[in-house]
Amino acid sequence: MANLGYIQLLRICNQRCRFCSNPENMRVLPLDEARTQVDELGRLGYDGVIFTGGEPTLYGDLRAIVAHAASHGVAPRIITNGQDLSRGRLLRDLRDAGLRLMHVSLHSSRPEVQDALTQNPGSFDRIVRTLRKAGRLGVDADINTVINRYNAGHLDETVRCVVGRFPWIRHFVWNNIDPSMNRVAENPDTVAQPPEFEMSLHRAMTFLEATGRTFRVERVPLCFMADFAHCSTETRKIVKEEVRLVNFLDEKGQVRQIDFIHGKAGACRACRLDAVCAGLYEMGKWYSPACLHPIFLDPDAVRKKVK
Ligand code: SF4
Repeated sequence: MANLGYIQLLRICNQRCRFCSNPENMRVLPLDEARTQVDELGRLGYDGVIFTGGEPTLYGDLRAIVAHAASHGVAPRIITNGQDLSRGRLLRDLRDAGLRLMHVSLHSSRPEVQDALTQNPGSFDRIVRTLRKAGRLGVDADINTVINRYNAGHLDETVRCVVGRFPWIRHFVWNNIDPSMNRVAENPDTVAQPPEFEMSLHRAMTFLEATGRTFRVERVPLCFMADFAHCSTETRKIVKEEVRLVNFLDEKGQVRQIDFIHGKAGACRACRLDAVCAGLYEMGKWYSPACLHPIFLDPDAVRKKVK
């Protein structure tokens, strides 16, 4: 898996997701600064860059920065909500500029759930149109899903729906909700506890593995995904000793993340996976350490699978 840097191009969006971790602040990165950040990633040896936001398709210079990255050997990707790409020729233009892969945020195969979570009527239908168009244009798509209370029970239904309609989609990413962000503070009902999604996540991963697809999971402790520990984003970073570089468009600025450990509890001391597990995010604030339980699998087997 490639090592990727992240650049927030703007913090403006055309949806209002109830769990957004990078909500609007109306800032826009000037094109010359975006180019400088891409060049830095190239110098540091990153394989690619993910342009994000906000919603990057609202960035007026998106074609230009995609073309710049592609021509400088830093493979460009975008994380998009798939709304604007459903119409017009933007996706074709981006492909012509060098975009080969995008991550489309889809949180549920149930239109009413997707539309309610994004507070955007028609969100689901527009994503379907975007994915159809991507298939026609030959632009690959991964699916990004934020795990939350309203999709916690049907994560498997969503991947089956996507694979059934778009069999060329090969990779899925689940991010457990980031409850430290202000949008979640306004909507605390969106937070799901790990036992609420453990079973549907397991069914989804089992299905994808059986169909030869790949996936990654972030902010989920390994005791809730022990059979697929090698697919934890943090575990992979820990094992491979990777660095994550994110250029935020807020007071955080450039963040060079080298520590991927969240919170550990008493159960972790008895757990064989302790050294390769990130533990529980926001432990004690939004998530109770009482839900953690030791696992007695061989950590070397996890390391081997990652490598
Ligand atoms: S008990 Fe702790 S170390 Fe073990 S899998 Fe759970 S969170 Fe990770």
